Amino acid sequence: MKSIRLRAGKERSLLRRHPWVFEGSIASGKADAGETVRVDAADGGFLAWGSCSPASAIRVRAWSFDQAERIDAAFFARRIARAVAMRERLAIPSDACRLVHGEADGLPGLVVDRYGDTLSAQFLAAGVERWKPVIADALLAATGCTRLYERSDASVRGLEGLEHATGWLRGEGETALTIREHGWRLTVDVAEGHKTGYYLDQRDNRRRFAELVRQFGSKRVLNCYSYTGGFSVAALAGGAEQVTSVDSSGPALERAAAHVALNGFDPARHEALDADVNATLRRLLDAGQRFDAIVLDPPKFAPTAAHAERAARAYKDINRLALLLLEPGGLLLTFSCSGGVDASLFHKIVAGAGLDAGVDGYLLERLEAAPDHPTTINFPEGEYLKGLAILKQ
Ligand code: SAH
Repeated sequence: MKSIRLRAGKERSLLRRHPWVFEGSIASGKADAGETVRVDAADGGFLAWGSCSPASAIRVRAWSFDQAERIDAAFFARRIARAVAMRERLAIPSDACRLVHGEADGLPGLVVDRYGDTLSAQFLAAGVERWKPVIADALLAATGCTRLYERSDASVRGLEGLEHATGWLRGEGETALTIREHGWRLTVDVAEGHKTGYYLDQRDNRRRFAELVRQFGSKRVLNCYSYTGGFSVAALAGGAEQVTSVDSSGPALERAAAHVALNGFDPARHEALDADVNATLRRLLDAGQRFDAIVLDPPKFAPTAAHAERAARAYKDINRLALLLLEPGGLLLTFSCSGGVDASLFHKIVAGAGLDAGVDGYLLERLEAAPDHPTTINFPEGEYLKGLAILKQ
C-alpha cells in the first residue's frame, strides 16, 4: 500500500473528518489515479485511507478514517447500503430520489439518482472511477434495480483528468422514463436530461410552491429557468390560472409543455418562452406585465468562491427585476445553487436587489435541498442549494 505524508500542521482537516487533502498539504508520496493510499500525518500517525487523484488539486479524497477498515468490494457495499437505507427512512414522496450524494455519503465524487426502476450515476473523481464496476454491482444489489445508466459527462471530470463517459453500465433499453413526484407525473430521459436527468433537489420546494400559490391565490405565475417545468406543474396544481416557463433550452421547454398536458391541465394555461431570462425579465417589465408569483432557479453562477463577485451581480440583477415585476403582495421563490455563495451572502444579495428595486418584502421561509441531498456536519462545502420565499410588501 502506498502512503502519502502530510506537511506538519496539515493533519487538522482530516482529524475533523473533512474528506479532502489538497495538493499543497502533501510533503511526500504519490500514487496512480484512483489508487488507494494511506494518508499519514507528519509524525507518521495514521489519518485516513483515501483515493489519489494526481491530476487534481484535491489530491486525495478520504474513503475512511478507521485504520481497521479495508477498502474493498465489501466497503463499497456497506457504504451504498447505508446510503440507500437512509433514503428509505426519509419516506420520500416520489419514486425518484438521490441515493448517493458524494462526500455526504462517504463516497466522494459519486452521485446516484434513482428514477423508478432505473439508476443514473455520475462518477466524478478518480477514486470512484477506478472502482466503477464494483460500485455498479453494489448499487444493483442494494436497490434491486436492474439498469444503471452512466452520466459521467460533467465538466468537473476534466479536473480529475478523466474523459466523459456515458451509456448503460448495467442493463439496457429505453432511456425515457416516467416518474411520480408528489401526485404529479413527470418524464425524464437519463441520456438526454441535465445532470442525471432531472433536478431532484428541488422536489420539496416544488411542493411548497404549490402550497404557497394556493394559500396566496397567485393567478399569474412566471417560472424562470424552468427546465422541464417542475415548478410550472406545481403552480398549476396550486391553482394558478396562467403560467409562463422561461428557459434557454428548447427540448426542456417542449417537455415542460408535455408535462402540463400529462398532468391534465389545459395547455392554454401554459406558455413556454425559449429565451434568456434576464432579457425576458426586462422585456416583460418594459411591456408593463405583472405577476403574482415568480420562481428564479438559475444555474450555478458561482461554481467556487472565486466567482462570487460576478455571480453576486448576476443574482442581484435578476432578483431586482423579479421584485419589480411582482404585484404588491406577490410571492418570490429565489434560489442559488452556487457552492461559492453561501446562505448569508445570498440573503445579502437579495436584500441589495430589494434596495435597488425600492421594495421591501417579508422573508417567509428559508429553503434548501431536499433531505435526500444531505449535508454532513463535517463537510459544510456540501451545502449548495439555498433559497428564500419572499412576500413583496
Ligand atoms: N427549476 C428547474 C431547474 C432549473 S436548472 C427544476 O425545478 O427542474 C437551470 C435551468 O436554467 C436549465 O434548464 C438551463 O437550461 C436554464 N438556463 C441557463 N441559463 C439560462 C439563461 N440565461 N436564460 C434562460 N435559461 C437558462
